[in-house]
Amino acid sequence: MFRIGCHLSVSKGYLAMGREAASIGANTFQFFSRNPRGGSAKPLDPDDMAAYRDFAAEHDIAHILCHAPYTLNACAADPGLRDFARNTMLDDLQRLEYLPGNCYNFHPGSHVKQGVEVGTDFIVAMLNDILWPGMHTTVLLETMAGKGSEIGRTFEELKAILDRVELSDKMGVCLDTCHVWEGGYDIVNDLDGVLEQFDRIIGLDRLKAIHLNDSKNPMSAHKDRHEKIGEGALGLAAVERIINHPSLRELPFYLETPNELDGYAREIALLKKHYRT
Ligand code: FE
Ligand code: FE
Ligand code: ZN
Repeated sequence: MFRIGCHLSVSKGYLAMGREAASIGANTFQFFSRNPRGGSAKPLDPDDMAAYRDFAAEHDIAHILCHAPYTLNACAADPGLRDFARNTMLDDLQRLEYLPGNCYNFHPGSHVKQGVEVGTDFIVAMLNDILWPGMHTTVLLETMAGKGSEIGRTFEELKAILDRVELSDKMGVCLDTCHVWEGGYDIVNDLDGVLEQFDRIIGLDRLKAIHLNDSKNPMSAHKDRHEKIGEGALGLAAVERIINHPSLRELPFYLETPNELDGYAREIALLKKHYRT
């Protein structure tokens, strides 16, 4: 079935997000665990979460994706910033136990002149510190555009992290179509080839979610600028091939395009029209 949704604001709570998703024809959604620029999360509201779970069950909403704040940098040079990343992610994952069976996505981090190896060591150390055997959330590394010193532009960099996380079955990957394109993977002209590479290096069984975005920039731009579906360098035909690809079509798709709710509703309707049933 076609799992499609978009990024929603968590500010009014979970039930409100569920209602919002249903109102725009979505059957999944993504949200920030807290203010995207960091800071404290709202107090946990178990009643709201229970009400959301009922609503989601009634309206067939599932596979929601929690996104870590952008400021979270697990491989910062400053130990205080690394502590912040660790504590924030642990707190987020503990909260998500109230919504078991979903995923948590984060940007692996920026090594800022320390080099990819040192950065990778810090990311691995953090994950091995905070993941626990009984957790009910899958933690996803997002593929990055390669802006600045971002780790995770190449499939090899993601694999280097995944290989060293002890609780391997708690980990997966979220593929961002804007990011991989700007990172240098030609998903417009050679989607099969890119996915074969992903499978050979990481394994398609690790792929748990797709951030579905067009891009304002040409391939390999390393800038990370999302565009509305069909209005960027990818174009609607490429997006249509992505949502229908046999290796991708059963995954949940999350729009992170520059839109308000009405724009998301239009994109979801457009994509549903192009999803082959
Ligand atoms: Fe992201
Ligand atoms: Fe993304
Ligand atoms: Zn992005």
